[in-house]
Amino acid sequence: MKKLIFCLFGLLFVNAQAQESDTKVILITLDGLRWQELFSGADPLLVSNRTYVHDTTALKSRFWKPTPQERRKALMPFVWNTLSQKGQIHGNRNLGSKVDLTNRMWFSYPGYNEILTGKADDKRINSNDKIPNPNTTILEIAHSDERYKNKVAAFGSWDVFPFIVNEERSGVPVNAGFEIAKGDQLSEREKFLNELQPKVPSPWGTVRLDAFTHYYAIEHMKKNHPQLTYIAYGETDDFAHDGNYEAYLTSAHNTDALLKNLYDFTQQDPFYKDKTLFIITTDHGRGTQPLETWKSHGDKIKGAGQVWMILFGKGVSAHGEISSPKQLYSNQIAPTVLKALDLKTEAPNMPGKVLSLNKD
Ligand SMILES: [Zn+2]
Repeated sequence: MKKLIFCLFGLLFVNAQAQESDTKVILITLDGLRWQELFSGADPLLVSNRTYVHDTTALKSRFWKPTPQERRKALMPFVWNTLSQKGQIHGNRNLGSKVDLTNRMWFSYPGYNEILTGKADDKRINSNDKIPNPNTTILEIAHSDERYKNKVAAFGSWDVFPFIVNEERSGVPVNAGFEIAKGDQLSEREKFLNELQPKVPSPWGTVRLDAFTHYYAIEHMKKNHPQLTYIAYGETDDFAHDGNYEAYLTSAHNTDALLKNLYDFTQQDPFYKDKTLFIITTDHGRGTQPLETWKSHGDKIKGAGQVWMILFGKGVSAHGEISSPKQLYSNQIAPTVLKALDLKTEAPNMPGKVLSLNKD
């Protein structure tokens, strides 16, 4: 009898544990990386264009191949050799798969606001100014829940992220811009990154190089194991604004390697291994016509509202590159993350439908 009661207790215990979500989520954004490069690699009109490329021979030897399929593999090998096998890649408009922003601004703060809060807010979020976000992000929603308190963290290359996440109100820790790692339990690597960051000058005043953002995030994840992590890479957008196609492609290629490094880290850490849902997307697109509009975005640039989305990991069926007509929107990401974490979606605040991760 004693044994039976013990077993019953055991079962109840296991059941209670199972009800708590054991899913971890890593949300990643690559600022302003066009779907055109993601799905077709180096652009034939830009790769040998001396206005935008200093050494066209060198750039072509790295990223030019006869077909778009070969070019994208050369540009982003982890995405196209590994993630395309494991998950879903949405947004190749040449195949009818579309992902669009619902905000009409088509620049960064409105894009990140839409991704992180699940709703466009063109009335209030219509500049990149450092204004504390009046809207509530999924990071704040998770951090306000007992189950995820202090298990949420954000890392960004752009120094506006503390305002987008509203670090002050939400209490969600955000390491962004040129911030260093703080605290008294710093790892050796964090100490080294803190030393290195001011000595490796970024080309820009408000955006640091992505390697810093990446390794600060990895070190934090090793130590603190957040259940919800947001990593916002930024280089691609800034090199594009600079009109440097060489650096834009190199940065896309580099970010692909950072994604591999992040994934490899999660696969050797039992906390994350096979329990993590990954969502990768971008805050806006860029132009194509006239050619020079590849450098920019915003509501005057045709096509800058066109984006893409990569889903893989826990609960995601491996459909690869989506090649059938389908329309997704960036505002669907926030409710999807909340559902994965077993957190309530407040429907009026999040009009987008939860993404069906495992349906055919
Ligand atoms: Zn931009």
